[in-house]
Amino acid sequence: MNVLSAIARPRLSEDWHLALKNLLLPMYCRACGARLLTEENCVFCPDCWESSPRIERPFCDRCGKPHVRIVGLGALSNYPCADCRDKPNRHIRRVWGAAYYDGAVSAAIRLFKFQNKRLLAEPLAAVMEEFACREMADETYELLVPVPLYHTRLRERGFNQSLQLACLLREAFPSAEVDQSLQRIRPTCAQSTLTSEQRARNVRGAFAVQGDAIKDKRVLLIDDVITTGETATECARALKRAGAAAVDAFAVALACPMPNFEL
Ligand SMILES: [Zn+2]
Ligand SMILES: [Zn+2]
Repeated sequence: MNVLSAIARPRLSEDWHLALKNLLLPMYCRACGARLLTEENCVFCPDCWESSPRIERPFCDRCGKPHVRIVGLGALSNYPCADCRDKPNRHIRRVWGAAYYDGAVSAAIRLFKFQNKRLLAEPLAAVMEEFACREMADETYELLVPVPLYHTRLRERGFNQSLQLACLLREAFPSAEVDQSLQRIRPTCAQSTLTSEQRARNVRGAFAVQGDAIKDKRVLLIDDVITTGETATECARALKRAGAAAVDAFAVALACPMPNFEL
């Protein structure tokens, strides 16, 4: 799916409504401030959306973090980074990230999660779908499992952003169904406010699986952002305990530095 087809074109029945709204209440790109045209969506202009950096080869085939790219060599094979070679993650087979947590994509994730801009689920899922078509064609998963919210947080926010993304990704993974048997069994602090050590402690034992739907299944854990991977690892630990055959994780964005190019 072309990302812009999701972000730029509202459904036909909504065209007149959007045109009128834009006339009465002009809309501006939340990243660069440019006036948006009627046919664009009401959050970002196509330039900002398209230039928000995506993760491209070569990247680590375990943690998903990109390697330095050598100009002129084109698409390269992926390979593990030094960290993953030295200390492989025992619970997650591999992590996939579609974009850097930067630019319009990071702004969109924050608006989606914290300001209830639910229409952004579609373009964000489209970023993941585009990446999946390019990089994950050989992977087969049986379950798409969203990272769960604790019930009080879910009530507060009104929706689970990872569940919305998982539901929109069903077409990209036709052999998989969405499963919600992974639960967050105690409240945790926002990981973004903690150090790496505190993050591990914060989520330790916070997840459990109900029932036996996970047993012997190949699971793709869905999240919006992966930073140090502590939450995904802890989810994977619970999924493995429930008998998952393998667990991979897939996020819209990885919070990692952008590697330099080498000539
Ligand atoms: Zn813009
Ligand atoms: Zn790695």
